[in-house]
Amino acid sequence: MKTIGAVDIGGTKIAAGGVREDGTIAWRDECLTSPNQGFVVAMERVVEMLHRMKRACGELAGIGVACPGPLDPMTGVIGDVGTLPGWQGASLTDALQPEFGVTVAVENDADAAALAEASRGSGKGSRKFIYVTVSTGIGGGIILDGELYRGAGNSHPELGHQIIDRSGPRCYCGANGCWESLASGVAMSSWVQQQEPDAAPVSAEAICELAEQCDELALRAVKREGYYLGLGLANLVTVFTPDVIALGGGVMKSSGLFLGDVLKVVRETCTQVPAEKTRITLASLGHDVGLLGAAQGWLSRYR
Ligand SMILES: [Zn+2]
Repeated sequence: MKTIGAVDIGGTKIAAGGVREDGTIAWRDECLTSPNQGFVVAMERVVEMLHRMKRACGELAGIGVACPGPLDPMTGVIGDVGTLPGWQGASLTDALQPEFGVTVAVENDADAAALAEASRGSGKGSRKFIYVTVSTGIGGGIILDGELYRGAGNSHPELGHQIIDRSGPRCYCGANGCWESLASGVAMSSWVQQQEPDAAPVSAEAICELAEQCDELALRAVKREGYYLGLGLANLVTVFTPDVIALGGGVMKSSGLFLGDVLKVVRETCTQVPAEKTRITLASLGHDVGLLGAAQGWLSRYR
């Protein structure tokens, strides 16, 4: 059995792996992204990892790459990605295809994760599936009738920038009160900072820990998280009524604190669609979703 080379690019580190077609991760390693050293230097590290993987796992079937957007999934050209400054205009496909002589599939990382959760994780068996990741930001991918949904010009739908409350905080996208600016991990910590301007900044993770200890402000932050996360999901349920919505990302590790409120908001808001038919659940692939998503991007395009 040939192995799929999987590359998961993040702003901090790049993971590379060898994934079998049955979804087993046979080999993995990672390196720092160090985006400021430039795209070419980062790709040298990726090429080196993939060569080591190939020596350990044997022949490559192809290479799948998951990368934060905006990007063009067909050409592999990276757009203006906030966490990858200076990489704009570089092509991931051109950096890897000639070196290994196999097909390369590049996907937006949230789309890649959606493909993996749909085929091997919480969305398995569902035809209409939405994956949402709640971490530093909020992103997601939509699978309709088993196929990844792409917008015009192969664009990626930006679920995190739907407007939830126009009176909300300003987002880097230019809008006020989009989902990401209200319900992401950064949104949680900025809100707490606003309530206590003189205190040291607290991460979303620390806020959740404080909430577990019944800290009053942290409990309010968690309540607010459930409310706004719920409103964004309610929009997705009203617009798509998918079979399953799976929630992943770092903030969801503390879902026990706010998932009940999320479901309540969805139930109360979505009165015009059979919302009870949408199962809202946690993503199940955990840390592996990056590499499995990269590999699944290649599988769904070339198998
Ligand atoms: Zn925004």
